[in-house]
Amino acid sequence: MESNNSFAPKPQEGKPWDVAIIGSGPAGLTAAIYSTRGAASTLLLAGEKWGGQLMLTTTVDNYPGFPEGIEGPELMMQMRKQVERFGAEILEVNVEGVDFDKKPFEIAAGGKIYYAKSIVIATGADTRWMGVPGEEKLRGRGISSCAPCDAPFFKDKKVIVVGGGDSAMEEALVLTKYSPQVTMIHRRDEFRASKAMQKKVFNKEKEGKLRVIWDTEVLEVFGEQVISGVKLKTKANSEQMKKIREKLPEYQGKILEENSDFVTWEMPTEGLFVAIGHVPATQAFSGKIEMDKKGYIAVHDEAKTNVRDGVFVAGDVHDFTYRQAVTAAGYGCQAGMQALKYLDELEDKKD
Ligand code: NAP
Repeated sequence: MESNNSFAPKPQEGKPWDVAIIGSGPAGLTAAIYSTRGAASTLLLAGEKWGGQLMLTTTVDNYPGFPEGIEGPELMMQMRKQVERFGAEILEVNVEGVDFDKKPFEIAAGGKIYYAKSIVIATGADTRWMGVPGEEKLRGRGISSCAPCDAPFFKDKKVIVVGGGDSAMEEALVLTKYSPQVTMIHRRDEFRASKAMQKKVFNKEKEGKLRVIWDTEVLEVFGEQVISGVKLKTKANSEQMKKIREKLPEYQGKILEENSDFVTWEMPTEGLFVAIGHVPATQAFSGKIEMDKKGYIAVHDEAKTNVRDGVFVAGDVHDFTYRQAVTAAGYGCQAGMQALKYLDELEDKKD
């Protein structure tokens, strides 16, 4: 039976929340759907920028149930409304730290301390930056990681997209709507992205709206107030380098240095979009929970963490492999159900 009524009570004054969920992407919101419907009082610490990576994307074509696709922010808004209907308390604050040694657990967020009997960590992942000179200084001054957010600022400007995965394809495709010349720079000679996304990119290349420079790395970003160019490195004897030499005037490029292995060269640009993947958002949990070798939160038995008594994990913060909205939602379901089971066990122990 469905109703418009909330399922989840709020805790009594001075009592802990049954479940605190940290993060508000598909994993966190789905965990909240399950915990609230299990009548657990649920606090969702959503982050100052709620909604996760889907808020930065355009059409999502592979989330089941939307035959025509759905815009990422619209999908998140729908999930949020569902969670609100079931009675979760959503606070748009960042979590600064946690104490898993205390019972109930303590969470420092937005300058306050919150108490919870169980926790679901669903903080997702953040942009991976290249870490080259000039990048940090010029972020927001011509360097971005979100074409759906920033592409209109680059109307009629030439831009570069770095990366070879689905994110890079998506960024480049959005930018072709605004920019007269999108250049994709990828470090290998083939993309990692899905065939469907690659096909769209190659179609744009055929239309002359986009070009790809393969086997090339960005070494540095130039610019004083705003970005003005990039320093690149390409294998000296590659087919790509032959092509670059021919097209140097078209690229407005200049060779800086060459040896038998590599050629370094520069190319002007008015924008740079970095789309080289993501890093798990684990800063608030550093030293408090076990991570795997890659820095993702380690999972034991489905959604459990090494903090066996009550801390669960869901979504991209532990998932290096799939990183899809639908898998994140699935992991959120697991974690929400595990948290409910744990709360039941706590009640049983009291009896
Ligand atoms: P990704 O699949 O990990 O791809 C990252 C790309 O960046 C790779 O091509 C990689 O090169 C390159 N790269 C990594 N580090 C680099 C560095 N330091 N310098 C230069 N290049 C570097 O990441 P993603 O594209 O963000 O996608 C993540 C997940 O989300 C994937 O599972 C993807 O399918 C999914 N996703 C799906 C959609 C969609 O379905 N519409 C959209 C976006 C993302 P190599 O190839 O050489 O490793």
